[in-house]
Amino acid sequence: MSSISEYFSGLFTGIKSLLLGMSVTWKELWTKKVTQQYPENRDTLVISERWRSELTMPHDENNEHACTACGICQMNCPNGTIKVNSKIIETEDGKKKKILDTYQWDLGMCTFCNLCVLTCPSNAIKFENTYENAVFNREKLKQQLNHEGSKLREKKKEEPPKSPEGGLKD
Ligand code: SF4
Ligand code: SF4
Repeated sequence: MSSISEYFSGLFTGIKSLLLGMSVTWKELWTKKVTQQYPENRDTLVISERWRSELTMPHDENNEHACTACGICQMNCPNGTIKVNSKIIETEDGKKKKILDTYQWDLGMCTFCNLCVLTCPSNAIKFENTYENAVFNREKLKQQLNHEGSKLREKKKEEPPKSPEGGLKD
């Protein structure tokens, strides 16, 4: 091939490639955008319910939780992220009882596998789908999940079964 035809061949290949690229750019200009303009869209941002980022221990309006300090979540955690510290107290009727003292969780160690939540027999912990958890100091990733002054929620006593007439059974 002569140098002139090589020149034109290269020129046409370049123009073809340029037009192809421009057609893709032009097409993308009109397709629906899926990228998020974060953080400007904080108010409208939708985070999936399945997103796990922060372990929490729900407390009710009486500052009571459901953790019995059994330690099962700590035993099942594959990398030592949870530390359940318990203490023994004496109840009003003189019995000894183990209760939760502090429940510590380290976000920096957690793999978000959810084993702790799945194996908790009391349904006492759950994952939230928060997403702004960055801190400047790793120590701040260590959290105490039970609130100050909180206590174990007493189980409601089941009412005795009623007789068909409405009175109590013998
Ligand atoms: S999600 Fe997994 S790694 Fe994180 S605390 Fe629970 S069991 Fe441990
Ligand atoms: S969170 Fe659940 S599994 Fe963990 S210590 Fe409390 S009751 Fe036991």
